[in-house]
Amino acid sequence: MRVFLHILTFIFILSCSNNDQATYDDFKNEIKSQKIQNKQIESQIGTNSDADSKSNINSSNHELDKIDCTNKLEAYILAAEKVSQEGIDLITKWVCVSERLFFDSESTNWEIVNPIYITALNRHDIESAIDLEKVWCDHIKKYHNSGKGNDGYDNGKCNPKHYQPEKEGCNFGLCLFTEPNGKVAGSSISSNRKHDGFNLFISNSHDLPMHADSYGYVTIHEMFHIYQYSNLTKTRSRDDEMRMVGKLGTGSNPKDEVPWWIEGNAVFFGYYKYAKEIQDREYFINKMENAMWGKWDGILIEKYLNSEKTINEFTWTGEEKKIGYELGAWFVAFLIDQVGEEKIYEFWTNLESEKNFEITFNKYFGKNYQIYINEFDVFLRQPKDQILSVLDRIYPIN
Ligand SMILES: [Zn+2]
Repeated sequence: MRVFLHILTFIFILSCSNNDQATYDDFKNEIKSQKIQNKQIESQIGTNSDADSKSNINSSNHELDKIDCTNKLEAYILAAEKVSQEGIDLITKWVCVSERLFFDSESTNWEIVNPIYITALNRHDIESAIDLEKVWCDHIKKYHNSGKGNDGYDNGKCNPKHYQPEKEGCNFGLCLFTEPNGKVAGSSISSNRKHDGFNLFISNSHDLPMHADSYGYVTIHEMFHIYQYSNLTKTRSRDDEMRMVGKLGTGSNPKDEVPWWIEGNAVFFGYYKYAKEIQDREYFINKMENAMWGKWDGILIEKYLNSEKTINEFTWTGEEKKIGYELGAWFVAFLIDQVGEEKIYEFWTNLESEKNFEITFNKYFGKNYQIYINEFDVFLRQPKDQILSVLDRIYPIN
């Protein structure tokens, strides 16, 4: 009888740790003990791999795959059904490369970087994206639902008390891993670590083998966003955070959000670092040339020059977005040509201690951003060869 009571007590304690107050640390411990259990099961049934077999994720099984090529970075993949193992392997590879490129530094604020949840979607299968939203919401309901600083469940679209998709014009899932038009969501970072308790990296698939490169530069792009925001350790309002990173307050209308700096950085480093890693200079030149003179929906440099606007005036609306992103990458190239790549990292690591965007920009790049923007406008009116020569200096021929 006494033994029976002990067993009852044990079960009770286990279910207590399963309640809504569970934390990310509980989650790590759970993963650890599940891995040990799995190893035991594997040795019992005579297999010896704890490697590549994809976890069978469903709403009652929260064992997430932790990327194991990282050093201090803690990233977990939740994969939708029918996402290929090749796709997951490519995400994994480029997350680990990104850690080495952007996070492997003494100044990294790991408490803002970790954990990173990567939801790997299949761009051709909306149903599996909707299914994964349920798995995701169960996960954060359990582990990121304990109030201030770890409130992702209440902040986002998972808690039906705070968000009802139909009322918001969303008829496909939650419009978290889906779009209101019924498409699978594009890649993004959709979280605020300091409020939610995690970074959420939504990773849409790319058709293989043709678009393997997209897994590279898109993953680097999104990881660079995590890097940018991880330099801001203090909790502030969303608008204040957007002002810090130059997304608000640098356009001609202070209320407009503008992508030129935050996205220009991520697009540039996506192309540049991917090319460097695969040691393919031509790839970089082609991507950058295509950014301005390629046929998107018209030629972006022509649209820019005809617009009579400067780079910081393009918003996320309609076709402006593409100009903000791709010509924003060219702005970063133009800046790096003058100040060097290191200064970009110095800008980000010192942004919070320097107080605001403008002061930091002046200090690390030597001139006000408005002056650089006007110079960039003059630069873009030169002959194409002249413009492209910047790339030869950034990524020289050996
Ligand atoms: Zn971006």
